[in-house]
Formats: sequence, structure tokens, C-alpha cells
Amino acid sequence: MNKASLKTLGILGGGQLGQMSAIAAKKLGLKTVIFTPEENSPASLVADETIIGAYEDEDTLSRFAQKVDVISYEFENIPVKTVEYLKTLKPVYPDTALLDVSQDRIKEKSFLNEIGIPTAKWSPAQTVSDVENTLKEWNTAQCIIKTARFGYDGKGQAFITDDDDITQRWNSLNSDHIIIEQVINFKCEISVIIARDLQGNTACFDPGLNEHKNHILHKTTVPAPIPDTLKEQAINMAETLAHKVNLVGVLGLELFVTEDHELLANEIAPRTHNSGHWTIDACECSQFEQHVRAVCGLPLGNPARHANATMINLIGEDITHTNQYKDNPNAHIHNYGKTEIKPGRKMGHVTLLEDQP
Ligand code: ATP
Ligand code: MG
Repeated sequence: MNKASLKTLGILGGGQLGQMSAIAAKKLGLKTVIFTPEENSPASLVADETIIGAYEDEDTLSRFAQKVDVISYEFENIPVKTVEYLKTLKPVYPDTALLDVSQDRIKEKSFLNEIGIPTAKWSPAQTVSDVENTLKEWNTAQCIIKTARFGYDGKGQAFITDDDDITQRWNSLNSDHIIIEQVINFKCEISVIIARDLQGNTACFDPGLNEHKNHILHKTTVPAPIPDTLKEQAINMAETLAHKVNLVGVLGLELFVTEDHELLANEIAPRTHNSGHWTIDACECSQFEQHVRAVCGLPLGNPARHANATMINLIGEDITHTNQYKDNPNAHIHNYGKTEIKPGRKMGHVTLLEDQP
């Protein structure tokens, strides 16, 4: 029997990204063990085994490591220390260098700029007067302030406009580790998802157009309605990034397309990305399968798209209204099986396929 087919993949985190990775792993004949602090997590519904424990609990982490051949993670707020510990026991991909950079917006933007990838103008801040001074220096009254760590779905962010009380906005973030960003009046937002294997081969998906509602990704459309030259530039940026961080696995790069047709990187996700869910139904090999392949030492699959696609997130109560798609043969519904519906919670998604591109 081929040695690769005996592999067991350990995944830190029990969310829907872990769930879809475990499904992809199963398709490849691999077993999965999930490590999560959460009972009844979406990933545990499909994994072969789940170990419940705290990310700081080295005994339980070591029991997890003993059961698996290789480890990955499905969200970026796993403590770097946890990954460093696990690395002493089993290979962990992607490496902590990428995780560390993605966990802190200041490190992330510094790193992107260092490797030649442009971003919005930014500056670190520890106090309200840092914000006031930066606004003066930039000769503007507007900016966005974001907590440098632990933000998602627009949480931990505040817009400062002409009339706003900067102190009040600052206090709303409840942190003194802040990044100030220039407000980009973007034409649209896109993302690129790239896989890189142990040998350094890469495979990139077609960039998608992302639209948000209430600061949460609402819809991704492929092909993105932008010139091919911009798509190529976006893919080149993702490739540069993937090589510079020695990626093994999948990462997502979120980008703004400015009115002047310039690309500015906004965020790196050191994992599969919500804007890549369409790849399950519209590509030969999905982002999840690419990720599993890369971290398990299998050759990457073909990322080619066989249909145009629109992915719509099913947020909160949306999951109870999927009947509207039942007569549409091109609608592919994915329900993550989360038992509790909460406003703003990602409960599933639907991918609508169109004709051949
Ligand atoms: P997500 O989890 O959706 O990726 P997040 O909380 O990690 O969100 P960002 O991706 O930095 O935070 O920002 C969320 C959204 O806010 C962006 O997709 C964009 O629409 C808007 N935004 C963020 N930064 C800027 C900026 N500098 N200028 C204009 N809009 C911005
Ligand atoms: Mg983002």
C-alpha cells in the first residue's frame, strides 16, 4: 500500500474550515483527528476522532500528536506557543513564521511591505495622541483604527471621520496595540487563494470578487470583473508571499482594487479562506483538498475552474431559508451542522454554478 494513504492528519480548530478539510481528507483516504477546546464542533461531526482540550494543555496536545502523522490548523488565533510545542513532536504546516505574521496586523503589514507588496498607508499606535499625530502627518481627518490582534468579521475596528470623537472610538477598541490605516476608497475587494507543496510547487485559484454585508463576507463571485492584468498581478503577489513564508498548505490574500487600478494587500489568512468555498463545487480540486494534499506531502491537484460561480454565505437565520434553492440544479448547499443559530454566525454557504467559463 502507498505510504501516503496511511497518513492521519491532525487539525487544530474545530470550525467549518476544519470540517471541510476533514471531508477532503476522507476523500483522499486519510484520517483526521481534530483538536479543539469546543464540544460538538462542526469539524468533529465529520472527523474520525476529536480531542477536546485547551491549546495550553501540553499533556492533551501530546496525546493528540501521538495519534497523527502531520498537523495543521484551521484558524489563525492558535497560540504560536502551542504550535511551537507541537513542532517538537510532529511536523506542523504552515510554519509558525506565517502564523505569527498573520496574528498581528502590524507585523503583517510590515512584512508585506518588506517583501514589496503594497498596502494602505499605516502606522502603529499606543495612545490617542498617536492617532492625532498620524492624522496631522497624513493631512487627513479620516482613518480606520484596528486592534492589531484578534480581529475578525470587522470586530475590533473603528472608523474615524471628520466629526468623530477620536477618544471615544479609541476607547471602543479596548486595547493599546492598535494599527491606524488610511481609508481606501476601493473600487472592489478581491482575494487570491494559493496552495504550495513541500517541494515549492504552487497552484493558485482564480481571484474572486468579495462583497461584504455588516462587515461579514456575503458573496464571492468568480470570475472577478477586473482586467486580466490585475488578476495576474494578484496571483504574482500571492506567489511571492507563499515563497517568502515557505508556505506548505493554503493561504488567502485579501486585496483592495483601488480606483486607479492598483492592488493593495489588506490581510493574509494563513489557512483556507471563506472566499474560496466556491472551489468545492466549481474546481477539479478544492482549496480544502489542496491544503490536505500539501500538508500531507501529496502532489497538488488541478485548481482549474470548470464553471463560473457565486458563493453566498448563509449567516444566522439564512440557514433556515434554503428552500429557495431546492429546485435549482446549479445550487450546491453546504450546511455546517451548527446546532445554535446566532446572528452573524456563519452557518453554511451556497454555491451557484453558471455555464462553462
Ligand atoms: P474579515 O474577517 O472579514 O477578513 P477583519 O475583521 O479581519 O475582517 P479586515 O479584513 O481588515 O478585518 O477588514 C474588514 C473589511 O473592512 C474589509 O474587507 C474592508 O471592506 C473594510 N476595510 C478594512 N480596512 C480598510 C481600509 N484601510 N480602507 C477601507 N476599507 C477597509
Ligand atoms: Mg479581512
